[in-house]
Formats: sequence, C-alpha cells, structure tokens
Amino acid sequence: MNLEKYSMGIGDRFGRQGRAQLSAFVEARAGGMDITPVWNKSFREHRLIGTSPADARIEADDAVRALGWKGSYYVDADHVGLATVESFLGPCDFFTIDVADFIGKTASAEDLAAFARRMSRYRDGVAVPGLAGVLRPKSGEIEAIAARYLLAAREAGKVYRRVLESKGADAFIAEVSMDETDTPQTPLELFFIIAALAEEGVRASTIAPKFPGRFNKGVDYVGDVARFEEEFDRLVCVATFAAAEFGLPRDLKLSVHSGSDKFSLYAPIARVIARRGAGLHLKTAGTTWLEEIIGLAEAGGEGLAFAKELYAQAYPRFDELVAPYATVVDIDRAALPPPSELAGWEGKRLAGAVRHAAGFDRNLRQFFHVAFKVAGDMGKRYLDALDRHEDVIAGEVRTNILERHIKPLFSALTSPGGGVK
Ligand SMILES: [Zn+2]
Repeated sequence: MNLEKYSMGIGDRFGRQGRAQLSAFVEARAGGMDITPVWNKSFREHRLIGTSPADARIEADDAVRALGWKGSYYVDADHVGLATVESFLGPCDFFTIDVADFIGKTASAEDLAAFARRMSRYRDGVAVPGLAGVLRPKSGEIEAIAARYLLAAREAGKVYRRVLESKGADAFIAEVSMDETDTPQTPLELFFIIAALAEEGVRASTIAPKFPGRFNKGVDYVGDVARFEEEFDRLVCVATFAAAEFGLPRDLKLSVHSGSDKFSLYAPIARVIARRGAGLHLKTAGTTWLEEIIGLAEAGGEGLAFAKELYAQAYPRFDELVAPYATVVDIDRAALPPPSELAGWEGKRLAGAVRHAAGFDRNLRQFFHVAFKVAGDMGKRYLDALDRHEDVIAGEVRTNILERHIKPLFSALTSPGGGVK
C-alpha cells in the first residue's frame, strides 16, 4: 500500500464529527487540493473516553459513505506499541508505531559493534543531495547513534511484523514515530535510524521525528521558526536519500505530529515540501473537541450553559486533567477565569476565548484541550448536547480544518503550476 503524497491526520475524540471533518476534504478536493484524510486515535484517548478502535472505523466508513468520498482514507492506530496494538489490528489500516520508550535503551555491545561494522562505508561521510557539505560522523558517533536507536528500531520491527502477520502485506500503511521524546533527532541520526528500520524490514511510508522547538497542544509553535525550517529541510532531504539508499519506499515522507495548530510553521513547511518535491503527513488531531466547545458556546442558550457547566466541573480537576499532558501544555493556572466569572460570559466571548484566532486566551484554550475527559465522564449527556447543536458545531469543525489548516498549508502546493515562494 502506498500512502498518498499529501495526507492529514485528524482526530475526533467523541466520534461525532467524521462527516463535518470529511466535508472539509471534499471542499478542498473540489478546489484542486487532493489531501487524504487519516482518522487517528490513540490507545490513551480510547481509554480516557471509553471508545474502541472499531468505533473509529465505523465513524470513518459512515462519513465516507454519507459524503460519497471517492478518495483514499485511513484509520490510524495512533502511537501503538506491542502492548497496545492488538485491538487496532482489525479496524485499522494505518499504524503509527511508537518506539519513543525504547530510545536510549541500549542493545548489546556485540550488536552495536556489528551495526557499526555494517555501516562502516559511511564513516567518511554521507553526501545527501540537497544538503550543503557532507554528513560526517565523528569518531564513535555511529556506535553512539546505534546505542540510542538500535533497540527502538528493533522494537518497531516487532510491532511491524505483528501487524504484517495479522493483516498481510499491502494491506496497511506503517509510520514510525519518535516524536514523544526529549531530544530532537539530527539528520545523521535519522539516516542511521532509517538504515536500522530497513534492516528490520519495516516498510515505513512515513516517519515522525521530533523537531526542535516546543509543540504544545492546540497552540502555535514556540521556538525559532527559521531554525525549524532549516532542520525540516535537512531531515526531508535525508529521509528521501536514505529511503533510496536502504530500499525503503522511495516516497518515504516525514510526518509532522504537530500537537495541532502550528500555524507559523505552515508556510515554512510548504516551502520545503515544494522545493524538495516531497510528500507530507501532517497530524493536527486533537482540536475537533475544542470546536465542539466553541460550537456549544456559539449556539447560546442551553448549549452555552452546557459548555460552562463542563468548565465548572473541569476547573477543580486541574491537576488530574493536566497530568497526562504535562509535558505538552504550558498553562498558567492562576490566569484561568474562575467558573463563577465564566458563568457570566456571553457565548461569543467564550467562543472567542477558545477559538484559535486573534484575541484568544491561550491558558483557557489549552485547559479546555486537556479537559475532554470531563465530557467523556458525562457520557450520553455530552453526546446528546452535540447532537442538539450539530449544525453549529459541524460548521466550526469544517471551517477549522479547511480554512486554518488545509488552505494555509496545501493551497500553494496543489495549485496547478503553483510553486511556493
Ligand atoms: Zn506524536
């Protein structure tokens, strides 16, 4: 199975917005932007909400049927490992194999030495087309990279083979993710990681490295954008070259696990992708839930009251709700409005504070982002509220994906003869 050139990972915590999400891709396609939707949901999300991978499959298939979508689409087992992959095997056809936990765990000295020997032809340097100069490993660096990544590559191999055994060849897309770790991978590291994955027989279509800078959930990038662009370019060049060098799919692309809404990176990413003729998988998953809150607030009346009630329940549970996401949010707790204050807000004000546009409240937005478990605990009451205000919410969901993500990132890339300046 080959992953299409441009794809986008979208999440939907409560599984009610599949059609609204897909309608953004339908509209994009009508405008010449051919983007493949990938519905992704992690084991953690399923557990926190009480859904299963089969639910995500039903939602995606239903949306595709209802809208008559003729393009490809996938359901992603997001960030799975050997311990969590089983329930995803049937319903999913895209597997994001997460090996971050194995980075830094070291293989035996003999294995490291053997890997370094197999890679010895690169000791004097790797000339990667597009990169200025040669990537030259320092003395002992190949061994050091192997010490950091060889076991992670082996683990990816185990998960990949489990999926292969269950689904058969050509029945799924594989991604390898290493983004949920502390240190960004260097171009040289990525080169040898791809070598190690190839040795394991992992036919990855896309790889998600960790990039420099902070990718907090649901808010923009924090870091040096120019440096990101330079590094992204280097990594794209290395991935393309290493794929050919080690016999992985030639269109191996990078996946940007954005944590949603890295708006300031879209133009730099588009420039690199255009210049290198590369593909891209952008994951901008989690904010559909925020669009539900925005829609409830915009609906006013009982919808607004429901959004406020949700906040009032979440506010005292701050520590519990933030804990699973502590490394990917920066919330100034003291700056959050107390529920008694928020209770007096009009719908437009609450929607404007949460919506990722001029004048939004980054603390409130991030807190709502992690507060979805409260809605999960409400269960049917929350889902019924979504149904009652479906029209307003669907509009917010569609506009968010189309106007804030697809168009800024892909319009120049997909316009006929359109380069990106
Ligand atoms: Zn990720």
